[in-house]
Amino acid sequence: MEAAIGVETLNAFLAIAFLAVLFMFSSSIRRHRRRKMADGCNCYPELEDKPQNRFKRVLADNSYSPFKHFKREGKEKEISLRIHPFAREIDYLLKHPPDLKTFITSHRNPNSSCHFVWIDTEDQLEALANILNEEEIFAVDTEQHSIRSFLGFTSLIQISTWKEDYLIDTIALHDMMATLRPAFANPAIIKVFHGADNDVLWLQRDFHIYVVNMFDTAKACEILSKPQKSLAYLLETYCGVYTDKTLQREDWRLRPLSDEMTEYARNDAHYLLYIAGCLASELESKTSASPSDELNFFLETSRRSNTVCLQLYAKEVESTPGASAASSILSRNMNIVGLTSSKNLETKDLIWILCAWRDLIARIHDESLRYVLSDQAIAALAVIAPKNPSEIYNVILQADTSNVSSNAYPTLPSPSPIIKNHMDDLCFLLLEVDANVDDVIQTYWQKHLNGAQCCPLSPYNYALLSQFNLKHSGMSFSKSSVEKFNSTVSKKASRELFIQKFSCKSPVYHNCRIYATDGRMLCYCDRKKLEWYMRRGLAKMVEEDPPAIMLLFETKGRPEDEGNEFYIQSKKNMCVGCGEKSHYIRYRIIPSCYRMHFPEHLKSHRSHDIVLLCVDCHEIAHSAAEKYKKQVAQEFGIPLFVQKIVNSGESTAATVASTLMSADEETGVSPLQLRTAAMALLRHGSNMPSGRLEELMQIVRTYFGRQEVSVEDLEAALLVGMSPHERRRFEKKRGLSFRHTEQNVVYKNHVSSSSQINNHNKEKDKESINDQRIHSNLSPVDTNGNLLLETFGSSSIQILNREVEIEQGNASYLKMDIENEDQLDDSSVNLLLMPDEITSSETAKKMSLLGHGPHGKQVVEHLLRRYREEGVRQFCQRWRKVFVDAIHPRFLPLGWDIMHSGRRDFGDYSVYNPAKKALPETNMVD
Ligand code: AMP
Ligand code: MN
Ligand code: ZN
Repeated sequence: MEAAIGVETLNAFLAIAFLAVLFMFSSSIRRHRRRKMADGCNCYPELEDKPQNRFKRVLADNSYSPFKHFKREGKEKEISLRIHPFAREIDYLLKHPPDLKTFITSHRNPNSSCHFVWIDTEDQLEALANILNEEEIFAVDTEQHSIRSFLGFTSLIQISTWKEDYLIDTIALHDMMATLRPAFANPAIIKVFHGADNDVLWLQRDFHIYVVNMFDTAKACEILSKPQKSLAYLLETYCGVYTDKTLQREDWRLRPLSDEMTEYARNDAHYLLYIAGCLASELESKTSASPSDELNFFLETSRRSNTVCLQLYAKEVESTPGASAASSILSRNMNIVGLTSSKNLETKDLIWILCAWRDLIARIHDESLRYVLSDQAIAALAVIAPKNPSEIYNVILQADTSNVSSNAYPTLPSPSPIIKNHMDDLCFLLLEVDANVDDVIQTYWQKHLNGAQCCPLSPYNYALLSQFNLKHSGMSFSKSSVEKFNSTVSKKASRELFIQKFSCKSPVYHNCRIYATDGRMLCYCDRKKLEWYMRRGLAKMVEEDPPAIMLLFETKGRPEDEGNEFYIQSKKNMCVGCGEKSHYIRYRIIPSCYRMHFPEHLKSHRSHDIVLLCVDCHEIAHSAAEKYKKQVAQEFGIPLFVQKIVNSGESTAATVASTLMSADEETGVSPLQLRTAAMALLRHGSNMPSGRLEELMQIVRTYFGRQEVSVEDLEAALLVGMSPHERRRFEKKRGLSFRHTEQNVVYKNHVSSSSQINNHNKEKDKESINDQRIHSNLSPVDTNGNLLLETFGSSSIQILNREVEIEQGNASYLKMDIENEDQLDDSSVNLLLMPDEITSSETAKKMSLLGHGPHGKQVVEHLLRRYREEGVRQFCQRWRKVFVDAIHPRFLPLGWDIMHSGRRDFGDYSVYNPAKKALPETNMVD
């Protein structure tokens, strides 16, 4: 009885507390309003004349619900399956590309008259549509505005035919643009773009215009291996026209456009037809010059261009509002604002909260995140946590004026009018450090629902505000406070888990010392190296704790002889980037794909080029390295492709990626990202919000370079990028957990087929030949046909708590379906597992996870051939610079040096002596 009363009292108390919070909010708004009215000026930014306020229909609003694509008559099904409305037409083009003659016959040098037609009435637009429908080919470019708008909008479309240049005022004609839909979707008309990836999506987003049959001059550049693929380069080389590309960042909402902007916009499309003609001829002659290649370069360009057309616009999906901005602010500011380790949890929470609030407020006001509040201002607010409006004002202003990157938008007001008008909210958020992200969103949104709307409705925020508590809004804030909170917590927890699993368990550098015969210090090392000398009677122990030995033989040369103090610096067990001490992972400054092909004696200098990094710095360094690899690939003309060979007895080769694969398709997914994603999917797949699930699946798909991802792929992914030692340890652990599972069938991904995937140059891969062989284990299915997974330890986890249907026969597959169609719409997860490849458990799968096929080997061979060892040394220096530029490491050992020569004279007994093959096989320092 008493207990019941207790609960009731508690509930009443909670209800009162909640009302009090609401009251605080609404009264602050009333105060706010009164003040405004008293001032006699109503300066809400919404009343500013933003051109998008005149749009009657908005296809992509700022709500969290997924973007709805164009519905063609009788093709409703395809919409729900997220199939491109013109997929069939585009697919046809991929197999039957357009006629080359269209380009060549009419190609002539365009004059540079400055005549153009400005289209801003419905009649003019219809006339233009009629003209375009009769053309065989026309060129297109678009300009968008993205600062004073949440999703951005197309502000201008430039279209050029051989006869005329048209500039379409897509602001004035925003609601009429459907008139041009047929011309763009007509497969008989070629549309020439330059770098169309964004344009294609923007046209879908704003006008439901879908491009079918495209020739992208940037793709042609790629295929022709042009030194550059920018439009500015093409304009210069083919037309002698010089452009100032900084104009692309102009405010394209301006009316009338300045002469300079008009000229720039017109030039962007005017020469495209001519340039396309030139490039088409070159593609043609390249094809006829190399008949042995069996590749038609023109067809390949067309194929790749139309693949771009198959892209579908989608709104960015986040697990919680502002999540991606928050993570990026956190990772970027690790070094700068001292957000080290857990002591600053409050600061981190504030970053999450501020990002969530900024996200919501930017959507409501239809402003970009940057316009509302810059990332650096968020970081500063979170660290300083100012408590009153004037402090807040100053912190934001300072952050914006002191930061260099804000120069990109020199004209933005700081703090923005939005912030000034919502200062009360910001004060509240900065005081309420205990609030969680979800509460913040809830409360803020409630404020709008409670009739206290301080911000007018528009087509952009209407859905957001009216659907907020509907189940079907893309995200389910309403009833899922607890869930959301848990997801934030589990995100934190899984990062912790990751750190636990993958970072070094014991201090890496043991700070053992080696002295020379004359008592001079030679270097620091780990115990293994020290023991190696001791076992061979080459040294005597001179100190116990920390241990030090003196060599009994005379060494040739001393580190300090070269002025290199590196070897006598104590190496600290911390992240060299930010000083994080609680965990660290080894990081190879020179990527293994190159280093493993270095001559033995250059390889030995690894202690200099292996550093410790925390997971966050590791991630940053890795992605910088992946980027630089691409640059290396371009510079040396040695592609970075991932090559996988399926070897089933007779070794049938199946090259997954062709040499022509575009650079973007192989963007590096860092091992860290991959492993985190795989682990999260394996452990939490069933409980994950669909958006997050899709995000993680995408990471895994990108890594493997294919759509279908099997459970085994996920398991394999857990091992990617581990050192042999880490992997052995990991596998041992895993082996135990698998021993007791029933092994009836193996579901294999069709790429891995029935046996093995090997890296091409596995012979050279000494470091990993044994370690990178993964003995695939089984994915047992429970009595309901649900796929069960064993991950770490003994717990068996059901992945993707969803129906699994097993069909029989040839076309059968094991498919994991999603409960309802709605969800399918925004995250179709398909784990396709081919049953015809179900093989016996004995079949072990070998998989090389090195990533880049022969690229590394070829680069090193090239360097050695052209520049000998000096080339390799300089190559190392470049990588050190990449590392330094990415991390700005503050805790590198003294004497660590980008220019580190790697030149050391090895004595007869040195473990690094190239002649000395008696080296312990295990890693000495790493
Ligand atoms: P373009 O492809 O050069 O015609 O650019 C089209 C649109 O992309 C421009 O109107 C800008 O909105 C945007 N854009 C392209 N490059 C940049 C850049 N470097 N900075 C900001 N916006 C850009
Ligand atoms: Mn342009
Ligand atoms: Zn760090």
